[in-house]
Order: sequence, then C-alpha cells, then structure tokens
Amino acid sequence: MDQATIDALRATAVAPRNHLIDGRSVPASDGGTLEVLSPINGQRLTTTARGTAADMDRAVAAARAAFDDGRWAGQPPAARKAVLLKWADLIAANAPELAVLGVRDNGTEIAMALKAEPGSAAATIRYYAEALDKVYGEIAPTAGGVLGLIHKQPVGVVGAIIPWNFPLMIGAWKLGPALAMGNSVVLKPAETASLSLMRMAELALEAGLPPGVLNAVTGEGAVVGAALARSMDVDVLVFTGSGATGRRLLEYAAQSNLKRVYLELGGKSPNIVFADAPDLAQAAKVAAQGIFRNSGQVCVAGSRLLVEAAIHDDFVAEVAAAAAAMRVGDPLRLDTQIGAVNSETQLLQNLRFVETAQAEGGRVYAGGGRILQETGGYYMAPTIVTGVAPDAALAQREVFGPVLAVTPFETETEAVRIANATDYGLAGAVWTSGLGRAHRMVRAVRAGVVHVNTYGGADVTVPLGGVGQSGNGSDKSLHAIDKYINLKTAWIKL
Ligand code: ADP
Repeated sequence: MDQATIDALRATAVAPRNHLIDGRSVPASDGGTLEVLSPINGQRLTTTARGTAADMDRAVAAARAAFDDGRWAGQPPAARKAVLLKWADLIAANAPELAVLGVRDNGTEIAMALKAEPGSAAATIRYYAEALDKVYGEIAPTAGGVLGLIHKQPVGVVGAIIPWNFPLMIGAWKLGPALAMGNSVVLKPAETASLSLMRMAELALEAGLPPGVLNAVTGEGAVVGAALARSMDVDVLVFTGSGATGRRLLEYAAQSNLKRVYLELGGKSPNIVFADAPDLAQAAKVAAQGIFRNSGQVCVAGSRLLVEAAIHDDFVAEVAAAAAAMRVGDPLRLDTQIGAVNSETQLLQNLRFVETAQAEGGRVYAGGGRILQETGGYYMAPTIVTGVAPDAALAQREVFGPVLAVTPFETETEAVRIANATDYGLAGAVWTSGLGRAHRMVRAVRAGVVHVNTYGGADVTVPLGGVGQSGNGSDKSLHAIDKYINLKTAWIKL
C-alpha cells in the first residue's frame, strides 16, 4: 500500500458503530454511545454503542439460538470451510481499509499494522478453515466386546474479550478455531480499539456466516465484558489482556456457571544477550525493535534486557543508537517505526513507571518522556533504564509501553535466575552461538516461547500461551482447537 492510498483513507469520515447482534446492526438499548478519540491527534474519530448488560444478554441469547438450531455447527465441514475461506479473502481484500481504520483507532504504526493485523488475521482464519475437516475423533483401545468412541464436539457459545493492541490478529486467534469447530461466538472488543474488529466481524456475515453465529457488543469492560463473563449461557470464555482483569474473569466464572476460562495475560519477558552472540549489532537492533515497536504495547515484548556484564556498556550503547534511529510519530506514515501510545491514560501510566524506576535506583539512559505533544496525540520516546535491580518494579511489572529495563549478569546460572524471577512466563529470547547453551536456555527459561538469536515473529503454526501468571491455554496452531471442543465418550456394548 502506498502513502497516497493511506492518506486518502485517513481523510474519510468514520461512521458511528453499533453492536452486531443476530446479523443486525443495533444501537445500545438505552441509546448510549462512547466517544472514540484517535491517539494520533487526541481528536474525536466517531462513536461506538455503549453497551448495557441487557445488550450483552441479547447477544448471548442470539448466539445460543444459532448454536442450538445447528445453522452453523450442523453444516457439512466443507460448507463451513468455504465460508471461512471467503471471510479470509474478504479480510485480505479489505486490508488497506481495515489497517488504516485500526491505526486511527489504536495508534499502531501502519507498517506493522499492515502485516500484523489484516494480513495475519486473514492467514489465521485461512489456517483454521483448512484445519476444520482434518480434526478426527478417536477409537479407544478397549477390550473386545465394547467400542469406545471419543467424539470432539463444539462447546456451544464462546465469549471472547479482546485487547486493543492487535485487535484483528488476536481476534482471529480466538475466532478462527472457535468458529471452525462450529461454535457460536460473542465478541467484546476493547473500548479503545473496536472499529476494525467490528468491521472484520461484519465481513464474516458478508462471507456467508449465518446471522447469530458471530455477535459483537461494544462498550465498557466493566459493564459488557463483565456481563459476558457472568453469563449463565456462555460455555467458554477466552481473553487476552491484563492480569487484573483476568483475575476478575475467574471470579465471574466462579460466581456464575463455572465456564472454562482461558487467559493470555502478558509478561515481563527477558531478552538475554551473551557475549558469544553471533552478531551483536543485529542483536542490538532486534532488541530495540522487540521492545519499541507498537510503543511496547505487545504482550510478548522483550521488556527486560539481560546483558552479560563483559559487553554491557557497549551493547546498551548500540541498543540506544538503534532506538534513536527509529522514527517516532504519525503512525499513518509508512516510514514511522514507533506510532502512538493507545491512550493518554496508558501514556501517563508509562511515565509513572519511569519515575518509580528512578526512585528505585535505575538510570534513564535514553528517552524517558512524552514527545510530540504539539500534535495533540499520545507519543513517548523510546526509553532505556539501566541498573534495574531484579526486584525493582520495572523488572517485575508489565508496563505495556516503550520502556526497556536493563540488568547485567555474570554467568549463565545467574541469567536464568534473574530471567525466571518474575510471576510471569510468556516469552523470552537468548542470543548465543553456543548450541548447547541455546538449548539449555530454551529449557531453563520459564516461558511459553523462547526465541534463539531473534525476537518475535512466531507464526500461526506454533502455539502461544503463558505459564505462571501469564495465563493458561494456547492461541495459534492446532493445539488452540482444544479450547473450543468438548470430548464426549460413547461406550457401546457390541
Ligand atoms: P488494559 O488494562 O491493557 O486495557 P484490560 O484487561 O483492562 O487491559 O482490557 C482488555 C479487555 O478486557 C478489554 O476488552 C476490556 O474492555 C476488557 N475488560 C476490562 N475490564 C473488564 C471487566 N471487569 N470484565 C470484563 N472485561 C473487562
């Protein structure tokens, strides 16, 4: 996509957005709306329906009715596959509109959004469409005289609560396997990034998904998100977001119908650089990208840099140089490498983390503040804090901003100890040319994904899921399908 196309799309007005319930666009039952501010310039972009608990109940009822009458689950696999493949094609065909709309809403730099948002969402939907007629039941190895069959059945109604950093990609991680297995879904997009995901949901209907199979309700997490999580008629709840909200969702499930809850809760992922890394200049560049792209608003961001003491000073200087070379600014320019922070609230929270880090003995080596305030938008300089103690807040808590915490280590054992000394366990990386060391580190670092001599980029073929307080269950790969099915045994006397 060229700059002229982006500029034309950004100039278009964005129509107010209603819920999508039972195949229809409907306003909030009390007429309420939420203002949508663009993080690019702080100005009003449009409004979305401010859902009520009654709206959510209506969406869940529509999803339940659609599931129970078999209008989707009862279709032959080939028919479901055709609809999902058509949907993927429509997402790809509408990629420029979806990407620009999403960036106007959430501030991610367009170069990254184009790849990570509609591009990967279409690929993910296609992957699960292709998978759906390759999921077989089993015959159990029983004694003679009986037949044990294991059926894989859809769970029924899936609730999906989506965050604002990559709404299309993360939305597709849940929608792809959930719909492929024949479930109905109720989506709850994030307040500050609903627009592109609502449009993607609408495209599913255009592709032929029957009304009621995919419903989407916008509004506040504490109202409509909570109503979804408390519903007595939702069978499985899938979520990506903060640990605090994840905890609440488990409480809501316990207070209601004990629905299964799968959580992906972010991390404080260690990027571990040994002196024997094959290419330190490349490692420094990728380390900067691994924390600063999308302003650090990436669940797998390499937010802790652990550097072998012998190369610490030179390496940090290289990371700082790489960060300084990254262009921060208007996310709708193709040459921007770091866009806007999603909201002013998030930006202020990032700045408080930097203050606390200094109070705890850290040194702001680069960045540290808000920039480009004259635009009216929310921008933060890529920030590097050195001398961060392993127990400091900046080493323990997820900022979800462009802030890198640097800590030196002396030995492999110490690197592992520091890497694993948080409550989280989502991602990590090790940079080394030692084959044995690389494999030892992959085993030792407590995380769902450990990169070796790279950071990020793991595609849909491999699972992503956290351990510890980073969550449970996996998105992506064939393993994700397990979340959206029930096993049922048939025990038959012959
Ligand atoms: P962040 O703090 O990064 O915005 P959240 O976990 O608050 O992350 O948001 C992720 C998603 O969770 C959003 O869609 C949001 O609306 C939703 N959410 C927030 N609070 C609740 C809640 N109490 N119940 C259900 N969903 C919620």
